[in-house]
Amino acid sequence: MRTLVINSGSSSIKYKLFRMPGGSVLGKGLIEHIGEKGSSFQDHFTGLKAILTKIDGVELVGHRVVHGAEEFSKPVIINEAVIKKIKQCCALAPLHNPANLTGILACRKLLPGIRQVAVFDTAFHQSLPEHAFIYGLPYEYYRKWGVRKYGFHGTSHQYVAHEAARILGRPYQKLRLITCHLGNGCSIACVKHGKSIDTSMGFTPLEGLIMGTRCGDIDPALVTYLMRKKKLDAQGIEDILNKSSGLKGVSGLSNDMRELEGKASRNNARARLAIDMFVYRIKKYIGAYTAVMGGCDALIFTAGIGEHQEGIRRRICKGLFDHLKQRPAVLVIPTQEELMIARQSYHLVAKP
Ligand code: ADP
Repeated sequence: MRTLVINSGSSSIKYKLFRMPGGSVLGKGLIEHIGEKGSSFQDHFTGLKAILTKIDGVELVGHRVVHGAEEFSKPVIINEAVIKKIKQCCALAPLHNPANLTGILACRKLLPGIRQVAVFDTAFHQSLPEHAFIYGLPYEYYRKWGVRKYGFHGTSHQYVAHEAARILGRPYQKLRLITCHLGNGCSIACVKHGKSIDTSMGFTPLEGLIMGTRCGDIDPALVTYLMRKKKLDAQGIEDILNKSSGLKGVSGLSNDMRELEGKASRNNARARLAIDMFVYRIKKYIGAYTAVMGGCDALIFTAGIGEHQEGIRRRICKGLFDHLKQRPAVLVIPTQEELMIARQSYHLVAKP
């Protein structure tokens, strides 16, 4: 079945065409600068139209949707009711869900009668227990406004966790895994017996690890302190925490870990500090997750830094499991979010 996977962002559309169930790639590409001045694509509709002239015979479409809130704990076939619910989730992911939805609506127009599936970044983490997902805030905020930890990168964590079980030749349902997705955005998940039971990202993708430009965990009182000090409004402080913090903010140089490793090797103190902080935060999370699972069978690294930067992996692992009787396997598994979306979409429609 020719399955098209669409990742529709605010000004870009990434696509990959698979033949399922085998998973061979028949085509892929990226359209950028949608809606920008001088671009030949004024909107997602014209972008998708251009993509569909390059490929034909699409039989199924799988869409990446960032936020499914508590509405979606697994992939679903898209219909009017699903579209309505995805719209409701826009309030929780104002930068991502509207763009994902635009891609879905454009595909419905351009490929009438072709089934479409939504696969959510948050779905895999819907198995978190309440004690892990409720914040220490007035409980009614959860009931009223959905204030809780959701977690993201779920498709990637789920894919590498399954792959780890396959590589180790052990049953997925029996393993205690820690999956580290270290790209520009970074998150770590604790997968016990086939279920995500904790993860570092939270209500938004800002919580947790130090990332390319995002701060990760900080004292929440700093938010109001900085707002007063720098006379910032809500948007102003959000921009700082999301766009000028993390590796970029600390180093004052770059959000790119390759560049920072290069600078650190030439004794740049701030590049070194940024890397030290990045590694230290990851170690702390791994320690915490090992404790809550009562051990760890495998530690998995994926995404840009996780897959390619051996020096960072080595530093994270140094001394990490010295206290354990049985040391976990350490695996590097390239993430394949698009393939996972194609697989999940295919399994949903191919079900007897
Ligand atoms: P995104 O979250 O944008 O998908 P990636 O998974 O591509 O990000 O990861 C980007 C990070 O990985 C950057 O810090 C980059 O320096 C680092 N990196 C290291 N090696 C590579 C590589 N070969 N390709 C891409 N990114 C790499």
